[in-house]
Amino acid sequence: MRWGLEGRIALVTGASRGIGRAIALRLAEEGCDVAINYNMSPEAAGEVVLAVEALERRAIAVHADVSSPEQVEAMAAEATRALGEVDILVNNAGIHQHLKSWEMAPEDWQRVIDVNLTGSYLTSRLMGPRMADRGWGRIVNISSVVAMSGTDHEAHYAASKAGLHGLTKSLALELSPRGVTVNAVAPGWIRTDMTADATEEEMVEAMREVPLGRIGEPEEIASVVAYLASPDAAYVTGQVLHVNGGMGLY
Ligand code: NAD
Repeated sequence: MRWGLEGRIALVTGASRGIGRAIALRLAEEGCDVAINYNMSPEAAGEVVLAVEALERRAIAVHADVSSPEQVEAMAAEATRALGEVDILVNNAGIHQHLKSWEMAPEDWQRVIDVNLTGSYLTSRLMGPRMADRGWGRIVNISSVVAMSGTDHEAHYAASKAGLHGLTKSLALELSPRGVTVNAVAPGWIRTDMTADATEEEMVEAMREVPLGRIGEPEEIASVVAYLASPDAAYVTGQVLHVNGGMGLY
């Protein structure tokens, strides 16, 4: 244990696999009880619950499509009933889709915005004020390097993540005066299902843009989220922390 989060309650969206799973486990290692949000895979979420319980913390799997206001409300109520009021919200759920802007249908565009951007707004509008009422809270949004760089094959994804930076800063202005910090972590290439479809050739090409010369691991995002959630980060708010092996150097 490094960051002193003993007894805090965390909710991580999209936590059944990948970066969200790593964040849930890391927060549990730091002493948090964790609500594991999933959309499609109760079995995988159940495995993360068991892994958290093996760390002697409480956990619950909570279903919600984060783009649905009703489902987000039900998720928050269920997590609070089972574990207590949420102190740390990590908006990690995300989807992407390789399409040129003129290839995507308006529905494709809308779906990516709804999950990646509106989902974070829906959870934050519900849980942020409740943290503020208690005078302490942490919101961490998982964005992406492409929020800064753009990309030539998923404009909706890049736009949703850039929007998340604006949401992060706005929520920080609203909530920081009441004890709630709001920050974003912008990963570069991380080894998860989201990047698993890249060919070896594409990966070699991609790594040319990474000064550290390798793909990142989900745990390397989780450790930064744990820092931002910790008392040590009490004076950090409204920031975007880039965790990408040195890409772009924004
Ligand atoms: P992933 O596909 O393994 O995980 C995404 C998770 O979000 C899955 O568990 C999925 O079920 C969940 N999810 C999707 N739609 C949902 C919805 N409507 N409601 C609730 N949950 C939903 O990918 P990952 O790499 O672990 O991605 C995690 C986050 O990190 C995403 O926001 C992604 O955009 C971001 N990110 C990833 C990378 C990378 O290289 N892997 C880079 C930059 C940013």
